[in-house]
Parts: sequence; C-alpha cells; structure tokens
Amino acid sequence: MSDGQRRVARAVRLLVWGLWLRCPRCGARSLFRTWFTMHEYCSVCQLRFEREQGYFLGAMYINYGVTVGLALSGSFTLEWWTAVSLAQQLLLWIGFGSLFPVLFFRHSRGLWLAFDHIFDPVEDQGSGDRDDKGW
Ligand SMILES: [Zn+2]
Repeated sequence: MSDGQRRVARAVRLLVWGLWLRCPRCGARSLFRTWFTMHEYCSVCQLRFEREQGYFLGAMYINYGVTVGLALSGSFTLEWWTAVSLAQQLLLWIGFGSLFPVLFFRHSRGLWLAFDHIFDPVEDQGSGDRDDKGW
C-alpha cells in the first residue's frame, strides 16, 4: 500500500469513527456523556476534545451543510418524481429542517473532530495535552 493510499484509508477510518461517535485518536466510544454533553477528555487516550473555546463552530457548519444539502436534494427529488404540493413540501422540509439538526448534532461534532484530526492530529499522549488548558 502506498503512502497516499494509507493516508486516504486513515482519513476514511477517522471519518467513519467520527460518524459513529468514536474518539479520532483511539477509536473508543468516549465522545458523549449525555445527548448534548461531551466528555472533556477521551477516557482511554486522554485526548482533549474541545481544543479551544469555539472549537465546535466547524461542527455547526457541517450540521448546517448536511441539513441544507439533504433538504434541497430531497425537495428537488420530490418535485421531479412525485406530485407533492408546495404546502406539503413546506410542511415536510420545515419539519425536517427543525428535527434533523438536533438528531445529527452529535455526529456533526464527531465528524468535525475527525476532520480536525485528519489535518492536524494530536499525537502526544495525555499529560501535555491535559496540562495546556489555558482557561
Ligand atoms: Zn481516545
């Protein structure tokens, strides 16, 4: 396997881990304590999840982009392939646009962590990461 293939395989693995709410460094299921509350650190490898204040803004962009992409493609698909009225479309996609981001919230954060770890991995284990809080 070439170096490029190894990098792509690693990126795909990290994105799948992110989608399934696994730590991007060790793969443990350690991201969330409750539906909306993340653990501060991975319980296995001690990776700090929120590197800085506002870190998860990128996750909001992912959540927004996936929601809009699905709503637009679904709306166009229904428009072309079915006889759904405009009122039904509005009802459906307003409901979708309200509910889907809540359900996708955790996965968007997992994907953001994966993206960040693909391009800027934190490889040192534990203590240095934990001691550099700064706030
Ligand atoms: Zn971990």
